[in-house]
Amino acid sequence: MRWSVTAVHRLHLPSPRDSPYDGTVERRVVTRGGVKARFQQERDGGWAGLDSLGPVNDATPGDVVPKYVYDFAEGNRDLKDLLGGKGANLAEMTNIGLPVPPGFTITTEACKVYLDSGETPAELAAEVTSHLAALEQAMGKMLGDPDDPLLVSVRSGAKFSMPGMMDTVLNIGLHDGSVAGLEKQSGSDRFAWDSYRRLVQMFGKTVLGVDGELFEHVMDEAKKAKGTTNDLDLGASDLQEIVAKFKDIVATQTGSPFPDDPRQQMDLAVRAVFDSWNGDRARLYRRQERIPADLGTAVNVQSMVFGNLGMDSGTGVAFTRDPATGATGVYGDYLENAQGEDVVAGIRNTKALQELEAIDKPAYDGLIANMAALEEHYRDLCDIEFTVERHKLWMLQTRVGKRTAAASFIIATQLVDEGVITLDEALSRVSGAQLAQLMFPTFDDTGDKVRIAKGMNASPGAAVGVAVFDSDRAEERAKTEAVILVRRETTPDDLNGMIAAQGILTSRGGKTSHAAVVARGMGKTCVCGAEELEVDLSGRKFTAPGGVVVSEGDLISIDGTSGAVYVGEMPVKPSPVVQYFEGTLAPDSDPLVAAVHRLLEHADAKRRMLVRANADTPEDAERGRRFGAQGIGLCRTEHMFLGDRRQLVEDLILADTDDERAAALAALLPLQRDDFVGIFDAMDGLPVTVRLLDPPLHEFLPSMEELAVDVAVAEATGKTDGIEPRRALLDAVRRLHESNPMLGLRGVRLGLVVPGLFALQVRAIAEAAAIRAAAGGDPQVEIMVPLVGAVQELEIIREEAEGVLADVWRERGTTVDGVLIGTMIEVPRAALTSGEIAGVADFFSFGTNDLTQMGWGFSRDDVEAAFFSRYLDLGIFGVSPFETLDREGIGRLVRISCEEGRAAKPGLKLGICGEHGGDPDSVHFCHEVGLDYVSCSPFRVPVARLEAGRAALESGGSDTR
Ligand code: PEP
Ligand code: MG
Repeated sequence: MRWSVTAVHRLHLPSPRDSPYDGTVERRVVTRGGVKARFQQERDGGWAGLDSLGPVNDATPGDVVPKYVYDFAEGNRDLKDLLGGKGANLAEMTNIGLPVPPGFTITTEACKVYLDSGETPAELAAEVTSHLAALEQAMGKMLGDPDDPLLVSVRSGAKFSMPGMMDTVLNIGLHDGSVAGLEKQSGSDRFAWDSYRRLVQMFGKTVLGVDGELFEHVMDEAKKAKGTTNDLDLGASDLQEIVAKFKDIVATQTGSPFPDDPRQQMDLAVRAVFDSWNGDRARLYRRQERIPADLGTAVNVQSMVFGNLGMDSGTGVAFTRDPATGATGVYGDYLENAQGEDVVAGIRNTKALQELEAIDKPAYDGLIANMAALEEHYRDLCDIEFTVERHKLWMLQTRVGKRTAAASFIIATQLVDEGVITLDEALSRVSGAQLAQLMFPTFDDTGDKVRIAKGMNASPGAAVGVAVFDSDRAEERAKTEAVILVRRETTPDDLNGMIAAQGILTSRGGKTSHAAVVARGMGKTCVCGAEELEVDLSGRKFTAPGGVVVSEGDLISIDGTSGAVYVGEMPVKPSPVVQYFEGTLAPDSDPLVAAVHRLLEHADAKRRMLVRANADTPEDAERGRRFGAQGIGLCRTEHMFLGDRRQLVEDLILADTDDERAAALAALLPLQRDDFVGIFDAMDGLPVTVRLLDPPLHEFLPSMEELAVDVAVAEATGKTDGIEPRRALLDAVRRLHESNPMLGLRGVRLGLVVPGLFALQVRAIAEAAAIRAAAGGDPQVEIMVPLVGAVQELEIIREEAEGVLADVWRERGTTVDGVLIGTMIEVPRAALTSGEIAGVADFFSFGTNDLTQMGWGFSRDDVEAAFFSRYLDLGIFGVSPFETLDREGIGRLVRISCEEGRAAKPGLKLGICGEHGGDPDSVHFCHEVGLDYVSCSPFRVPVARLEAGRAALESGGSDTR
C-alpha cells in the first residue's frame, strides 16, 4: 500500500440517543497516483472506503474517482458551484463546529448528468449507499428501521438561493412498518402519524405529481367531521385514517401503491428535486433573477430533527442584522411546535425571535452565540434557519443573507466601521442595480391621505396600483395597468403575480415569510403581515379597520419602507439618494445617504474609467454634472431639428436651388449655435461630444399617409386651390421613403448626400465654442460622426469639418484648441476595419445600440416586443442584448475594434455611448477591454461610477442571490 494520507477529519457527530457509540468518527482523505479516496473508520476500528472505490485494497492506482456525493464534513463554503449554496454552507457550519444534523450533499454535477441524459450517473447509487451507511452509523440508526427509524429530509439547494422554487421532501423513511418505531422513539403517536401524513402528502404532491387539492380536501373533511378548523385538533387515530386515505389517493392517481421502501423513497425524492430544477416556478424565477439555466441543483440529504414534537420544540428564522434596514440586533421569527416550512410559508403568524428567550433560555442563548459565530466567520449579515427539538438547538441552514438595497449599503459601511471588512470589500458588496433601486421616488406623506393600515416594512419602495387578489389576474391586468398583488400570504405559486405587480401586500406572515423574502430578492416593494386587513380572496376585496372596503380594481398605495397602506394614489417625491445627488440633501443627513456617499467616493477613487453623461440639453448636462458626470459622451443633435424648427428643416430638404438651401441653413445656424453655447456652458471645462445628425431625413417630414389623403381628397373634390405645396411635399416624402430606414440614408450618409448639412452643424459648434472661449469659458469640443462604415466616409467629413473650423477661427479671431474629430463605431464593418479608421479619428465611441442591431440583424424598434420573450424562454439569451452587452458576439467586435484601433494609433481615446454604458454588467466589460470612459443617461451616471469602481477592484463581491 502506497497511499498517503492528505487530510484527517475528526468529526464529533451528535451521539444518537440510547447508543453506546460515542459519536466520534475519523475520516481520512488519501491519495495515490493522483487519485483521491476517502475512508472512514468503522466502529470496530477497521477502515471502509466511503467513495465508490470500495474497500481500500480494491483500489488500483489510476482509478478515476467520480465524486458525486460529499459528506457535510467534506465541503466548504467555496464549493457553491458543486454543492449548491445550502450544501456548501451546511458543510461550513459543520466544520466550524456548529450543531448541524449530519447528512450529505449530492452534487450539481450529478444533477447535470441527470438533466442531460434522463438518468442519474451510474456511480451515484453506490456512492449514496456508502454515504447513507456512514450517516446511519453516525446516527446509530437505520433509514426507515421499524424499531427506531432514521428519517431524512431531501432538499434542493442550487448555487443561488431560489426560495421555495424547487422541491423538498421531509420525513423520508416513514412507512407502515416504521411509523410505530417513530411513535416509540418520540413518545407521541399523534406526532408519528402526523409526520407520516406529511410525508405521504408532500411526497405524493411533489414526487408523484398528485394534485395537492385531493389531499387538502381529505384534511378539510376530517376537520369538518371534528367540528374544527385547526390541524392540531386531529388526533392520532384521525391522522391514521387520513394516511390510509392519502395512500388510496396515491394508488388511484398513480396506479401504484405508495412506496414503502425507504431507499426507494429517497431515490425518487432525489430525482424529483433534480426535476424541479426545470419546473415552471424555478424557470420563471431564474429568468427574473438572471440565474443561468444550466447550473443544476444539488440535493441535501439530512437527518431529520423535529420542531413539531410539542411546545418544547419549535423552528425559526433569524438574521444577524435587520435585512430591511441593516440595524444590528436580534432579528427573526419563531414558531413553537412547528416545522421549518411553516415559518417560511407564512401560514401561521410567528413570534418575534426575542420571545424565544422567555420560552427556552438555553436554546436562545445558544442561538445568539451561533449567530455571533456565523457573523464573525462570514464577516457579513447571515440568515439562519434553526430548529429546537426538545430544547436542543439545531442549525439547519445559513447563508450570507439577502437584504434590501438600502441595507446593503448601510451594512457594508457598518462592517467597515466595525473593522470587519475594508472599504474595497465594502464596495464589492454593493451593486449598481441596488443603487438604481435607491433612486426610485418615495411617497410624500405630508398631504392629507390617511393611512388605513400598517403592516411590516418587508421590502422598501413606494408602489401604487390597483388591488388584485390573485396572481393570474394580476399578471393579466399588469399588461395594461399598475397592479398591487394582495394576498393573505404568498406561496411559490404566486411568483408570476409577484413579478407582474408593482408591489405586494399580505395580511399574514412575518418579515421572513415567502412574500417578504422573495420580494426583497426581486427588489420589489412589499408590505407583509398587515393583520388589520381582512382579506377576502373569494370576494376579491379587503376590509380595513373602520370598515373601509377595497375591492379589486381600486387604487391603493403601499409603502415598503414604513409598512403603511393607503387608499388611492399617494403623491411621490424624489428619494433621499436622488436629493443628495441633486445637492439638496447633505451627505450626512441620513445613514443611507451617508453610506451611498462614502462608497461612491471610494468607487471614484478606485475607478480607472471616466463616466460621462448622454445629454442633449443644458438642463440634462447640468444634472449629469451634479450626478458626477465628467463630460458629455453623447449629445444627440436630432431634437434640435424638431418642434418650431421642423419647418426650417423641411425647407432645407425641399430646397431646389443653392440659394434656397443656403437660406434654410442660415436660418438654422443661430438656433443650433445657441443650443451648443448652453451645453458648453453647462459642461465648462469638461469634454462634450457632439454627434452630427443621425436619423433619416424623412423623420423630419410629415406623414406620407396624411399627405396622400390630403392630396387625394383635394383632387377628388376639385378643391385643389393651394394644394400644390402639399403635393410637392408628398413627392419629396415619397422620394425619401425607405423600406428599412435604420439601414438607409442616415448618419454620415446624410452628411455626404445633403450638401451643407454637416458643415452647418460644425459651424454652429465652432462658433458656440468661440463664443464661450471669448467669454472666458473653457469649451472642450469633440465632434462625432455617426454610422461610419468605411474610412473614406470619415476622411471626407473630417476634411470638410477641419475646413469649417479653420474658417470660424479666422472669422472670429479666436481659436479654440484641442477640438477632436472622431467617430462612432456602430456598424460591424467599422469595427472590423478599425485599424484604418483610427488613422483619421481622434476617438472612437461605441454606439452599441446600433452595433447590436446590425451585429445581430435585430431591428431595434421591433424585435423586443415581437419575439424576445420567446427567446428568453428558450434560453437563447438570458437577457436582451440591447440591455446587457453580448460579450461573445458584439463584445468581440468591440474588442477587435479597440485592439486594432489602438494598434494603429496608440492612445486612441475610446468610449461607449450606447445604452450599455449605464448597464452594470456592460460597464465591467468596458473596463476589461480598456475603454477610457462610459457614457450614459444622467440618472445612470452614479450607477456607472459605482460599477466602474467595482470593476477596477476586479472583485465579484459577495453574491447574495
Ligand atoms: C448607438 O447606436 O448606440 C447610439 C448611441 O446611437 P443611437 O442610439 O442614437 O442610434
Ligand atoms: Mg446609433
